[in-house]
Amino acid sequence: MGFDVDLFVIGGGSGGVRAARVAAGEHGARVALAEQGRMGGSCVIRGCVPKKLMVFAASFGAAAAEAASFGWRAGPATFAWRDFRARLDAEIDRLERAYRDTLAAAGVTVHDSRAVIEDPHAVRLASGERITAAHILVATGGRPAVPAAAAAAGVLTSDDMFRLEDLPESILIVGGGYIACEFACILNGLGVRVTQACRGAQILRGFDDEARAHLAGLMRDQGIALACETGVTGLVRLPGGEMEARLSDGRVAVFSAVLYATGRVPAAEGLGLEAAGVALGPGGEVPVDRWSQTRVPSIWAVGDVTGRRALTPVAIREGHAFADTVFGARPRVMDHGLVPAAVFTRPELGTVGLTEAEARARGPVDVYSTTFRPMRQAFAGQPGRVLMKLVVARDSGRVLGCHIVAPEAAEMIQLAAVAIGAGATKDDFDRTCAVHPTMAEELVTLRRAAGEA
Ligand code: NDP
Repeated sequence: MGFDVDLFVIGGGSGGVRAARVAAGEHGARVALAEQGRMGGSCVIRGCVPKKLMVFAASFGAAAAEAASFGWRAGPATFAWRDFRARLDAEIDRLERAYRDTLAAAGVTVHDSRAVIEDPHAVRLASGERITAAHILVATGGRPAVPAAAAAAGVLTSDDMFRLEDLPESILIVGGGYIACEFACILNGLGVRVTQACRGAQILRGFDDEARAHLAGLMRDQGIALACETGVTGLVRLPGGEMEARLSDGRVAVFSAVLYATGRVPAAEGLGLEAAGVALGPGGEVPVDRWSQTRVPSIWAVGDVTGRRALTPVAIREGHAFADTVFGARPRVMDHGLVPAAVFTRPELGTVGLTEAEARARGPVDVYSTTFRPMRQAFAGQPGRVLMKLVVARDSGRVLGCHIVAPEAAEMIQLAAVAIGAGATKDDFDRTCAVHPTMAEELVTLRRAAGEA
């Protein structure tokens, strides 16, 4: 039976665009893609990219203060949010155009429309047009999840943070995950008074405990009022637009704004999946096997909508592997086993492999961990120690996990991940000559395991 296209992709984010480009551009498939919003998805439009640019923006206040210790004299530094936001908007526009150009160059037909699945081989666009396809790829990503009461009170989500007219004077950030911690540091760096309320005993559940505690201390040191084991029991918008928040520790305080960063959920509702035979999972995700195939053989899904790891490079790899498998006669799967990640706090937290607790649950380990004041901060008389940690299997000597809390930890962990992915042992790290003077050299000079005399 002839189909209109070989592949119809729903969603123009990182995963969908990669799959479409590779299927069409490299494997010669006839591909169409529908995007209901802006091309580029969460990463480019309201996630990783604008966030990282805000991280850069937020770093200059502290850098200006440090510069004085290095002999620089300048007037008091001030930050103009609207000037920055105009440049941020222009950069996102540029990237969106680049995504469109890439798809056009690969021969992908783009529909700026919502698309819903009508049956396992057909989608319908908002215009009513029906397009048949040999394969359908769902790559619709995720969206912020906010408890109903907070949503009704009109709190902000991460989507709103890039569109603010003005920076708030003060903010309450609810959550202890990636997004809450990143925005706490960004906004604090931009001069906003930040209170962060996290319901758990510590921020960043799932990360290495020592790294979590170390980072939380550094966040407090820079002036973030971080309250753990604290929830919000009431929110009232005041006539002036501010929010009065009642916290579970009994405090009642007024904030210019409240941001909820309480997780993200797959954006899979209303896509026609159930009617086509794909029941959603308990978290609203599209269940797929390791080939990213649903239980309906012609329907596939990649990225955040599948509820696997909600990270851009993971979505990209899943999309690429799907296109190679289905259209390139090169079957391959994304290896979700060893995914490095970074939280872009100040300083950053980079991580790959097992946490100490996870490793201990599997067998005997040696833990090599050090904290120190880096040269630059020490010279500038700034507080803030760096943490470097290796978790090593005692029997094989293999490095099972690496956790770094330091400026540029994201850059460092990317390279550590190559070594750890290749099966490096502690001896391999020790044999590697240091690059001096750096922070990362501490990773190859860790001599004593915790508890050793
Ligand atoms: P996370 O899942 O990382 O964190 C959610 C946080 O909100 C947790 O601290 C959670 O607490 C808390 N929480 C959940 N529900 C409630 C509630 N009802 N009331 C109070 N607190 C609540 O989600 P994020 O939104 O921060 O990020 C979503 C995903 O996006 C991440 O998991 C990550 O995959 C991705 N991401 C990656 C980034 C990066 O790579 N640098 C940056 C930003 C996002 P508890 O731990 O107790 O459940």
